[in-house]
Amino acid sequence: MFIKLSKIYKSYTSGEVKVPVLNGVDTSIDKGQIAVILGASGSGKSTLLNLIGGLDSADSGDIIIDGLNIASFNSDQLEKYRRDYLGFIFQFYNLIPNLNVEENIRVCQYLSDSPIDCNELINVLGLDEHRKKMPSQLSGGQQQRCAIARALIKKPKVLLCDEPTGALDTKTARDIMMLLEEVNKKYGTTMLIVTHNNAMQEMANKVINIKDGRIISDHVNEAPKKASEIEW
Ligand code: ADP
Ligand code: MG
Repeated sequence: MFIKLSKIYKSYTSGEVKVPVLNGVDTSIDKGQIAVILGASGSGKSTLLNLIGGLDSADSGDIIIDGLNIASFNSDQLEKYRRDYLGFIFQFYNLIPNLNVEENIRVCQYLSDSPIDCNELINVLGLDEHRKKMPSQLSGGQQQRCAIARALIKKPKVLLCDEPTGALDTKTARDIMMLLEEVNKKYGTTMLIVTHNNAMQEMANKVINIKDGRIISDHVNEAPKKASEIEW
């Protein structure tokens, strides 16, 4: 088991009121799997991803990643964990506006002793003809491809994606999912993808449904489809 979550509780305090957001989440994900986390807006998906990403801390519970219980880490340990293990992709790309595509990708290559070759990534992600363009000159899909390359260059073991296709049209979303699938195969990256696009579960190895901060179903997909075979 590469990622194992046990009895995760998390609440936020709003004024005097404690608002529970995650109410005892248990699940696990194997190495190299694509896991999809589905649920309505406000169900706690981003909160869960942020806990796994060491960006926020749980009130209680264990978050075991590759044998490390990051729930017990201090901020220095979390920083090292994020650097050594994780890539992040968000709905709105978060590229650096005054750097071009290649520069946006290269800023993250120094985070690893053995990064993926930048030219290889630019090629895999179909960005060759755009490498000198600024983010403002790119479509949403091209910006997301650049964000994926930036997240991958340090060769993370785990890629956390929060609504990676949420701002894209159906065809571009499909292209992005085909790329993520290719990256998963080529580099063996374990992926957690938060979405409310139900079609995405067909390509996942594991499908986790969350409602009101609880997992309401959690199952292994024995026969995941290729992204290209799915009706998006
Ligand atoms: P989802 O990603 O599934 O839409 P979130 O995890 O973002 O859901 O949010 C779950 C609930 O937690 C929501 O009710 C949201 O308002 C609340 N919440 C999330 N982050 C914070 C925060 N930093 N402070 C207070 N409340 C928060
Ligand atoms: Mg969210």
